[in-house]
Amino acid sequence: MPLMEIKELKKNFNSQTVLKNISLGVEKGDVVAIIGPSGAGKSTFLRCLINLERRDGGSVNVEGIELNPDDKKSVKKVQQKMGMVFQSFNLFPHMTVLKNVMIAPIKVKKIDKSIISEKAKNLLAKVGLSDRGDYYPSQLSGGQQQRVAIARALAMNPDIMLFDEPTSALDPELVGEVLKVMKKLADEGMTMIVVTHEMGFAREVANKVIFMEKGNVVEEGTPEKIFNNPSEKRTKEFLEKII
Ligand code: ADP
Ligand code: MG
Repeated sequence: MPLMEIKELKKNFNSQTVLKNISLGVEKGDVVAIIGPSGAGKSTFLRCLINLERRDGGSVNVEGIELNPDDKKSVKKVQQKMGMVFQSFNLFPHMTVLKNVMIAPIKVKKIDKSIISEKAKNLLAKVGLSDRGDYYPSQLSGGQQQRVAIARALAMNPDIMLFDEPTSALDPELVGEVLKVMKKLADEGMTMIVVTHEMGFAREVANKVIFMEKGNVVEEGTPEKIFNNPSEKRTKEFLEKII
């Protein structure tokens, strides 16, 4: 059984069907890149996986746990297995970088401060920010803030990381430093689902690429297949526009 199994996921907003019937299996160590035009439903898909949006149909199973929106315990269990990084970094502005990384394990997992402080420092080193622990988010560049957001998500020991266009809000010269951290995570074996417009990253780091449009998975395959030899006309047209 895959680490994560999504079957026929459906989502409506009012009368609009935003996700039609999305099925996806994610194996341990997979890096899944989700690409597609704005409005395709990519963010909504990720959000349904951790119940930030309540799905309207289908099933989500993470490591054997069925995500049941009516059962708070299952929601919490699934959420604890996943870390999410958003386009806007969403750091707590009144907390230092170190505190931002420490706060969830302290509050949610009741982990001892001295233990998590050590771990948070290691995570900041991992994202290349050892020397910024005492800074406030506003004193950092966007790329640095996003790296803190990644460290913060990792502090909860997730088994799966979800990234929703993590570099889309960054100035072009800051994109590389964030992608580099993500690539390192992937190389270490982290299971990741990444919504991205960075086709170089998708091609190089992902082992599975999914092209979504209008709430459907139009095509999925290896990066070689999707980028070099897509079967679907719509995939071709999208890639021609974006690359
Ligand atoms: P993508 O991330 O691929 O750009 P989204 O998942 O953000 O797409 O949006 C898919 C569709 O759902 C869009 O038509 C968007 O307007 C709609 N949508 C997203 N969130 C909401 C919401 N909270 N309420 C109503 N409509 C929404
Ligand atoms: Mg989006």
